[in-house]
Order: sequence, then structure tokens, then C-alpha cells
Amino acid sequence: MNVEAQKLTAKDFATNQEVRWCPGCGDYAILKCLQRTMPDMGVTRENTVFVSGIGCSSRFPYYMNTYGFHTIHGRAPAVATGVKLANPELDVWVITGDGDSLSIGGNHLMHALRRNVGLNILLFNNEIYGLTKGQYSPTSQVGTRSPSTPYGSVDRALVPCAYALGAGATFIARTVDTAQKHMPDIFKRAHAHSGTSFVEIFQNCIVYADGIFEGFTDKKAAPDNQLLAEHGKPLLYGKEGNKGLRLKPGTLDLEAVTIGEDGVTADDILVHDETNKVLAQMLIGLQRPDFPMVLGVIYAEENVPVFEASVTEQVQGIRESKGPGDLNAYMAKGRTWTVPS
Ligand code: SF4
Repeated sequence: MNVEAQKLTAKDFATNQEVRWCPGCGDYAILKCLQRTMPDMGVTRENTVFVSGIGCSSRFPYYMNTYGFHTIHGRAPAVATGVKLANPELDVWVITGDGDSLSIGGNHLMHALRRNVGLNILLFNNEIYGLTKGQYSPTSQVGTRSPSTPYGSVDRALVPCAYALGAGATFIARTVDTAQKHMPDIFKRAHAHSGTSFVEIFQNCIVYADGIFEGFTDKKAAPDNQLLAEHGKPLLYGKEGNKGLRLKPGTLDLEAVTIGEDGVTADDILVHDETNKVLAQMLIGLQRPDFPMVLGVIYAEENVPVFEASVTEQVQGIRESKGPGDLNAYMAKGRTWTVPS
């Protein structure tokens, strides 16, 4: 029940806890942005839960004036699934990092995504383990030097959105910690989505991986190196807005082109369709510097059965046909025995 009649503000979603991230960490900007956006979503504090695992970003629940769990490494999706199943009316957010969700918790994240649990999952990707002093993570690029890879990582980096798409995610978006105008829209879309929403946020770790996203997030570099995808609009970018993506003639590959060069016209540019899984896969897979980094809602599939609704419906159906269950009777039936004291 909504017990808060008045419109809430960002301050209502902030706690009195001292925020303990390194000065200049991108986490601050994400926190402030989410606190500012919550009132616009029409949510209430008593119906909101933040669940996190372990890592720098996982301190988030302490700073949101809502319910919250700071759980164990990689297990936030499992705990959040339980919360959502117990009370499907709650708004449940999962805050996680690249190590927490894609290494330690890769298994748990996969199952939340494929089940389409009604969770809003925000993955802060800084391509490093910050909390444990800078070891390379599953999203670190080849060559990343860290205490655990002093000569440079040789692992191929995992692309979080590709992982999510492969696991069956029904909503996939990307944004940047400094994009204070873009992030709120993405949060609102994620919150409005029915089922699991997966949002990758490029987050600068000023201590162990400072500036690794500058190539497409820096104010000067951004226009020519990031593409803000919008459903129904041409996939255009560039300072002049004249660069774009098209299908390379005779292939199923994307090509970065400039309108007015080599006979390219505006009609050649692909129009974004966030319901098209094949297009989503292609956009997610684009690598810089040959292509821009694609941000925005990349994939959204509505009307997919939601896990908690399916479970509730199944349980209700069985109760109606067989009556309420008796757990004690069930446990005692069949081959059971008593351990003598
Ligand atoms: Fe932020 Fe990096 Fe410091 Fe962690 S170590 S709080 S990610 S700047």
C-alpha cells in the first residue's frame, strides 16, 4: 500500500550514511542520478528493495533510503529472485559489478535472465576489481596490467550485453556514469519493462582503471565515438550527424559510413528496431575504433512470461485442484527415518 501521499524528492531516497567510495569514483554520479530519478518513476520507498553482492558498487543499498540487502559475492540475483517471488508487488533492483556478476556470479545472473524475473539489474562495468585492489576482471581488455596480471591480461574480454542476450534477456541497455541526461531515461525504461531489465553502465574507477572509457565518453570524443540508439530512428552519430551504420552491400555485416561519401545516402542508414534480436546482436558486437560504442536501449522484448507470475499462477492452480499443501506431511512420507538421540 502506498503510505506516502506526497511527491517524493531525491533527498527522500538518500540515507544519512557516509558514502564511502574513492573521491571521483563514477559510482557517485550513478547514485545521485538514481536518487533523482526514483521520484519520477512514481515509486515508493516502502515498496522498493535494493539487493547487491560484493564489490565497490555493492555498497549501494546503504545509500538508498529503501529496503535493501548487501548479500554475498555473486548471489544478488538469487536473493533478489527470492524477494520478488515472495512479494511480486515489490520493485526489486540488483546492483552489481563486472566481477561480482560475470565471474563469481555468472551462473546466478544467467538464471535470473533466462527466467525473466521481474528485476532491474544495473551492472556497473569498470573492467576491474576495485574493492580488492585492482585485479583484472572478466571484462578487462587484453593487455590490462594489474597486480594479478603484471605482464598484461591475455584473456579475451567478455561483453556483458552479449552475455545477457545469449542468456535470454528481454531488455538490454547501455549508458555511461557521466551521462546525467541519458541515464534517467534508461532507468525509467528499465523500470517500466516487464521482466528482467539488464543495464550496463560504463563506470569510471578513478583509482585502478581511470580513463579507460574516455575514447567514447570524453565530451570531445563522444560525438564521433558513441551512437545513441533510439527505436524507430536512423542509427546516426558524429559531430555533424552524418555518420551512420548500414548493412555492407551483399553481406550481413554492419558498416560505418558517412552520408555523402562513396555514394552513401540517408536512405542507406539502418533504422533502429529494439525488438530485432539479430540487429541487437550486431550492435552489441561492434568494436571500437572501427565502430562507435552503441548506447541506449539496444533490445526490448515485451509480453514474455514473467517468472514470478508463472510460479504464482502454478501454485494457485495446484492449491485450487489439490487443496493447500502440508509440508510436514510431505517431508514425513516415503523413506524417512529418525536419527536416535
Ligand atoms: Fe570507485 Fe574504483 Fe574506488 Fe572502487 S576502487 S570506489 S570503483 S574509484
